[in-house]
Order: sequence, then structure tokens, then C-alpha cells
Amino acid sequence: MNQTFQTPVEYLKGTGPSRAEVLKKELGIYTFEDVLRHFPFKYIDRTKFYKIRDTNPDMPHVQVIARLTHKEIVGEKQTKRLVAQVQDDTGTMELVWFQGIKWVEKYLVTGKAYILFGKPGSFNGKAQMSHPEVEQYSAEAFRRQGNATLQPVYSSTEKLKQFSLDSRGLQKMTSFLIEQHAREIPENLPSPIINKLKLMNRAEAYRNIHFPTDANALAEATKRLKFEELFFIQLKLLRNKLLRTQKFKGNVFDKVGHYFNEFYQHKLPFQLTGAQKRVLKEIRLDTQRGVQMNRLLQGDVGSGKTIVALMSILIALDNGFQACFMAPTEILANQHYLTVKNIIGDDFINIALLTGSTKQKDRTQLHKQLEDGSLHILFGTHALIEDKVQYKNLGFVVIDEQHRFGVEQRAKLWRKNTIPPHVLVMTATPIPRTLAMTLYGDLDVSVIDELPAGRKPIETLHFYENQRLRMFGMMKQEIAKGRQIYVVYPLIKESEKLDLKNLEDGIEVMSREFPLPQYRLSIVHGKLKPAEKDYEMQRFVKGETHIMVATTVIEVGVNVPNASVMIIENAERFGLSQLHQLRGRVGRGAEQSFCILMSDVKLSRDGRIRLDTMVKTNNGFEISEIDLQLRGPGNIEGTQQSGVLDLKLADLTADQQLLMLARKCVEEMFEQDPQLSHPENQILHQSFLSKKDGLSWDKIS
Ligand code: ADP
Ligand code: MG
Repeated sequence: MNQTFQTPVEYLKGTGPSRAEVLKKELGIYTFEDVLRHFPFKYIDRTKFYKIRDTNPDMPHVQVIARLTHKEIVGEKQTKRLVAQVQDDTGTMELVWFQGIKWVEKYLVTGKAYILFGKPGSFNGKAQMSHPEVEQYSAEAFRRQGNATLQPVYSSTEKLKQFSLDSRGLQKMTSFLIEQHAREIPENLPSPIINKLKLMNRAEAYRNIHFPTDANALAEATKRLKFEELFFIQLKLLRNKLLRTQKFKGNVFDKVGHYFNEFYQHKLPFQLTGAQKRVLKEIRLDTQRGVQMNRLLQGDVGSGKTIVALMSILIALDNGFQACFMAPTEILANQHYLTVKNIIGDDFINIALLTGSTKQKDRTQLHKQLEDGSLHILFGTHALIEDKVQYKNLGFVVIDEQHRFGVEQRAKLWRKNTIPPHVLVMTATPIPRTLAMTLYGDLDVSVIDELPAGRKPIETLHFYENQRLRMFGMMKQEIAKGRQIYVVYPLIKESEKLDLKNLEDGIEVMSREFPLPQYRLSIVHGKLKPAEKDYEMQRFVKGETHIMVATTVIEVGVNVPNASVMIIENAERFGLSQLHQLRGRVGRGAEQSFCILMSDVKLSRDGRIRLDTMVKTNNGFEISEIDLQLRGPGNIEGTQQSGVLDLKLADLTADQQLLMLARKCVEEMFEQDPQLSHPENQILHQSFLSKKDGLSWDKIS
């Protein structure tokens, strides 16, 4: 917006310093622009006026014109209230205020006519309204109310109301600003886009979102402003991406050779799924272009991301490069290392594991091999990218579980080679398409949306306490078949004591039901020392215990294909994505697996939706969509630094179409005019690209 709209709100006529102060404190409104951007949260139809006789307490809202005949403050302290009497040619009505008494009393003048708006009630059989909106009657006010089909309603606070800034007060303030300055609101979208999409112009849109001429104008205004929001987020993301590709060259992997072919023909233990093949192709294309790849690979637990990463690495090796494979924890790093070692055997390529517990002697050896290039793939935690770890020729980096790596850590990667390595980020937490487009909009995204053939979908059951015996029965059956079981209890920081008690009670019940020597239990919780925890886990992994009783510490990590049952106690206390992650711990072998959700009979609405969703589907993407609807983007991991939380109008679940449209528009624009130098795109430099607080273009995401 231009200079006018940066004016502090206290300079708006009728506002002044003290109101400006509360506007800042209560609503974060500092400038004219902030006033314009405090959008109504709903609209009320106020075209109709009623006679007092025709109102009744069943009506939601009415609007009345009446003359004030009497006013009086009655009662003491808590019961203190302002009572007033109004009259029209059909009857009388009592008005009452319990709050803001002082200013209302001052505002009301006996003998004058008012336009009153509120919910009708009755008191002692008489028509009454409490806390109505009042405005002194004037021909102008009458026309305004009568002409506006839809009246904006603004959110306000008790504090603001004391300063006459209830919805009505805010409306007046906004109305004044619009009357004075709406014409000056500058357009900020290129005209070809406006014309092509038939968007309302910006000034009109602001006018109509506050004071719509009719429902249609409101819809057009809302669409225009939502589009604008989404457009600029996409512009920022795609411009970042463009600048990054201009700035960073990429190693060209132009051949597929011995390592890949040998692996594909002789070592790959199964047929790749269609989705795996497709993603490999995407990566293959990316790494041939001479531009650094930044690709996010999304795929549910068990969808087979590791093999895709490995095969991509083999192509890097075929082109004379080294690779590294980073995981967020030592357990996971270790697991990846062992998995890959298992698949490729000992004498194919040279791989190693580097973690905090690697001995100094091995470390020295390892550094030497990395530097002379004889080590092909290094697995580990972020220790892999510490400055003292030098590679001869690092060409490809796999990062498992993306959001645990900070921007800074990833920036280190860029310095690992003269041309930075290609980066493949893998995540097993599926996120909705729209969220991905905004969170990772500057990455390329690949999706594995297909599970390997022959997997039996996990069967999920929701049990209440009275079905516990049935659950024990199922557990015994599975153990008799030689399978293992997880039992998980919630652990939420605020009520750690309670949770520990739950866990202890649970352990007691389980120990009684599954006594030694026939049954053996592993018990793992946050209070154990790491070594103890590890010992217990290892016993379960090796199959020495039947049941693992644990708090959520097992969420990330352990892979025990023999485990076939996941029991989640107090399942209503877990979030959807957590439930889905936990469930993903089973169903890794060929046998039928089960997930049993134990819950209280009393469930909140959301709690019930969560559990029903789990029973209904195993599809992580479907689950993530519902999670987004239930929690909103603000509570979903990774959204904090993205623009999604600044969205004031657009809604990532409801406005998917518009988001796609915005993305497409920006993509096409950059295709035709990468520098945004065409005259019609100049407008973007003024309204956005020149903004100081805007963006650091070279930010690595
Ligand atoms: P995630 O995507 O969770 O990392 P993994 O890569 O660990 O999944 O794969 C899960 C299991 O599925 C592994 O045991 C892996 O060997 C196996 N797997 C992967 N791809 C296929 C496939 N195309 N056919 C059969 N099994 C596969
Ligand atoms: Mg994995």
C-alpha cells in the first residue's frame, strides 16, 4: 500500500491517541492499512426496520427506530446498570446495559430518535433489548442502514468496547477511512492477470469486503483478496526457487553405470512399485539439468522411500560422486545403515556409519577415506556435515525426516563442495497438497502414494474399557502365533505425574494378565537412563520379550517386522498424525497386523472424529487432510516460518482451487518473464519486491 496507508491510526479522524493505544494493544492495529485489513468476520442483513409491536423474543435480530423517553442508572456495584425506555408509534421497549454504562449514558439524549439493533427479549412481559447497538437517527444513517444489504460485523473486545469501539464503532472507523481513501488503494496485481481471471480491482475489493453492495459483490471482493494473499506467497516461494537455481549450479549426472545396473539386476530384492519408478525418474531428470536439485519426497511409513534414495545415490556414484545419508537420531541412522548394508552386501560399495559414539580411531580412518574418495556413502546424524568432515566429492545428500534439520544445518551442505550436492529430503509425515504447496513451495515435491504389493492393510479397531478382555484375548492369540506387541501410553508434559501413574497402573495390569515365565515384557519410558532404555528396546528387537509397554518414546525409530499388534491406550489423547505414526510401527511383515485404539466412552467431537478416521482409513494423505481441518495450519508442524499463518482470508482447506490457480499464474508469469521486467509486471516491484521487510532471496529452504 502507499504512504497514506502507513499513517498511524491515531491520525484517522475521530480516533485519537487513546483509542489508537487500545487498538494497538487489543487488535494489533497500528496503521490505516491495519484498519483495512481488520476484516469483518460475518455480515448481517439490516435492510429491514421493525415496529416495536412486531418484535418478539424468537427473532434473532431486529432493527427498530424509536425515540428515547427516559434513561436512568440503577443499582449498586455488581447490579449497577443503565436502563432506558424507547417508544415508537406502536409501543414501548426497555433497553438495558450492564457494561460500558458510562459512555452509553453520555451518548443517549432523551427526546432524540435512535436506530437500535439487537436481539429482542422480554422482561416482566415487556419488550426488552440488552446491549443493543445504538446510533442516533439521521437521514444519512437511515439511508446507509437501509441501503447496505449486508452489514459487516467486526470482532472486538471488552476493553475496546469501553472506548466505543464495539463492532459498530469499528465499522464507523472503517467506513470513514474507506470514504476518505479507498480510491487511493493501489492495485498490486499485473493487469493481464486481473483481466484473465476477471478479478475485481483492489480498491473495489476493499470497499466491498467491508461494505458490500450485495452478496455477489462480497463474493467477488473476497475472492480477489484471497487470491492476492495466495498469489504473493507463491510469488515469494517460486522466486526464491528461481533465484536459487540461478545462483547454484548443479552437478550433472549424465550416465547410469555399473553401480546402478548391477544393483538393479542382481541385488534389488523386489519389483519397484509404479510410484517408486516415477519418483526415480523425477530425480533422474532433476540431476541431469545442471541445476541443483532440492526435492522433497513424501511417502507414508513403509511406502519404500529408502530404496528410492539408495538407487538415486547409486547414480551419483556412477558419476564419480560420494553421498551421505542423514537421519535425525542415532537409532535411525543406525537402522538405515544396517538396512542398506543388508541389501547391498559387503563387497559392492564402501559404506560407513558416523555417529556421536563412533570411536576416535575409527573416525580418523573414516575421515581419511572420505577425503581420498574411497568411502562411497556415509550414514549418520548431523555429525555428517560438521566442518571437520571433508568429502572428496560430495554429490548427493539424503535427509530423512525433514523438519528436524534447521536451515543453518542445511546451509552447511552448500559449502561441502564447489558445486553444492543435490538434496533429497524424505518425510513420512504426509501433509496435504495445499499445505505442501505453501510450506515447501520452493522445493520440488515427489510423492509415493502406493504401498508395495502384497501388504495386508493394518486392521484398526476402536475398543472401550468393557472390551478389554477381548483385547487380551487377541493379544494372547498373536503371541501364540509367535508375534510381538506394542502397548503405548500417552505422555504429555503438563501432566507427567498422571501419565506416569497411568503407565504404572498399565504395567501392573499387563504384568498380571501376562505373567512370567510364560510371557516377558519390555518396559520403556522417559524416566529410564538411555542405556537402560536401549537394553529394553534391544530385548524386544531381538524377540526376547513379547510385549513392549512404553510411552511414546517408540514413536520414531524401532523397526520390528515381527510386531503385529499396536495397542494405544487413551487413544483420544493423541493427535491424528501421532496415531498414524504409531500405527505405522506394525504392518511391516507379511502377516495381518492390528491396531487397537482404547478410549474412554466419553469423547469430544474432535476426539471421536480422530478415532473414526483411524478406523476408516490407512491412507496418510487422507488423514493429514482431516488433521488440517481439525487443527488448522497453525498447529501443524513446520508451518511456523511459512506464510500460511499470516493468511487472513484464505483457508488452505476451503480454498484449494484458488491456491492452485494462484500457483499456476505465478508459474506462467515466471516462465514468460523470469526477471519480472516486462512493463505489466513492474507493478510487482513496487508493491512487493521492493518491500524491505520482505525476503532474503538467497535463503536456503
Ligand atoms: P519408508 O518409506 O517408511 O522409509 P522403507 O523404505 O523402510 O519405507 O520400506 C519399508 C519396507 O518395504 C522395507 O522392508 C522395504 O525393503 C520394503 N519395500 C520397499 N519397496 C518395496 C517394493 N517395491 N516391494 C516390496 N517391498 C518393498
Ligand atoms: Mg524410512
